[in-house]
Amino acid sequence: VNSSDVNRTQAASSFADPCLEPFRDEVEQWFHDVAEPALAGNDYAGLSEVDQLAERRAWDKMITEGGFGGIAWPREHSGRGLGPIEEYIFYTRAAQAHAPDLLNFIGLDLAGPAIMAVGTESQRAEFLPRILDCSELWCEGFSEPGSGSDMASVSTFAEPCDGGYRVTGQKIWTSLAQHADRCYMLVRTSHDLPRHHNLSVLLLDLRQQGIEIRPIRQITGSSEFSEIFLDDVFAPETDRLGDENEGWHLATLAGFRDSRRAFDSLRRFVQVESAADRLRHCLSSGSHELQPLVQRVAVLRWHIARIVESLAQGHSVTGATATLRLVWSRLWQDISEAGVNSACSQHEAVWRLEYLQTRMTSIAGGTEQIQRNIIADRILELPR
Ligand SMILES: Cc1cc2nc3c(=O)[nH]c(=O)nc-3n(C[C@H](O)[C@H](O)[C@H](O)COP(=O)(O)OP(=O)(O)OC[C@H]3O[C@@H](n4cnc5c(N)ncnc54)[C@H](O)[C@@H]3O)c2cc1C
Repeated sequence: VNSSDVNRTQAASSFADPCLEPFRDEVEQWFHDVAEPALAGNDYAGLSEVDQLAERRAWDKMITEGGFGGIAWPREHSGRGLGPIEEYIFYTRAAQAHAPDLLNFIGLDLAGPAIMAVGTESQRAEFLPRILDCSELWCEGFSEPGSGSDMASVSTFAEPCDGGYRVTGQKIWTSLAQHADRCYMLVRTSHDLPRHHNLSVLLLDLRQQGIEIRPIRQITGSSEFSEIFLDDVFAPETDRLGDENEGWHLATLAGFRDSRRAFDSLRRFVQVESAADRLRHCLSSGSHELQPLVQRVAVLRWHIARIVESLAQGHSVTGATATLRLVWSRLWQDISEAGVNSACSQHEAVWRLEYLQTRMTSIAGGTEQIQRNIIADRILELPR
């Protein structure tokens, strides 16, 4: 499989729909006039942690001002009212432009869609505009020191009190928590109810007393995530999403999970394609190491395109998204390994950093082992 196979396949699919042309032209024009001049000469992967964060904030803002913030969000919530195919068109173009990683991806892909689906009118009115205009940054508080792969075992407890809850416990590995304003947090709300029926989701305000956030230093030297310590923190009942003790259902709802995985892979594709382009720069085009990796990038793009098309047609994408996660995480690790082994002097430091950074791709968002279990168990239905 090579890029022209992928392009041929897309030419025969919904991607060739003439209705998409005005949007494609608009995206092309915007990248030409606004985004590319702003991104030109910026080697994002080589920047310091502080500068990367500033770049990501600026990129989120640029996207929003350009009208591409909530491409697939409904118009009633100030989105563009378009679909996953338009998201694909925008983010594959962003990949070509070597755009930075989206900063408010938890707000846009998790908290926002969940609030739209099950939030109250006042939650929608309060939170959605601030996610879309990037004035509030969100993080996701699921993992705890004693609860990672087994998400249902969270022990951070939200004790009912007058008007809401008092929350006590600890979260860990919370990406961007030290910069975030709100946390989409899974908490336990019952001592007595059975497993999976004793959890709730809080849209917790992180800027309040009783919360201590300690950044964790990673192997790269930067701190992408933090620990959150909660000591008798008040959360009003109006900040609970959905019904009490229905948090597990919300956290595992197939519709959210699938579209989130698809969009997450699309955002990651931007980074994988940038890394592949850098590798092209370091290696000669005839290099035997380069070709298989470039082909795998093309296959990844194809895989995402198929999922996006199925999503747009309302089909289930559970199986395809389960494998997608394994495909992009291994590919990005393999590209960074090839980069470390073959770096040109210009990119030596960037590859070293990226090699360390990509160790996390097989852990974050659920480990590869767990993912393989899910594929074996729920998709292939193999006997235990
Ligand atoms: C960069 C990064 C960002 C992250 N961001 C967030 C975030 O924003 N919010 C958040 O809530 N969490 C976040 N996480 C945490 C991540 O979701 C967890 O690390 C992951 O779910 C694994 O949990 P754990 O670390 O507790 O490992 P454990 O669950 O303790 O697993 C340890 C090892 O045992 C294996 N294992 C466990 N159970 C099984 C099983 N049943 N079968 C086979 N093998 C098994 C695992 O695969 C793993 O190799 C992040 C992690 C990273 C690395």
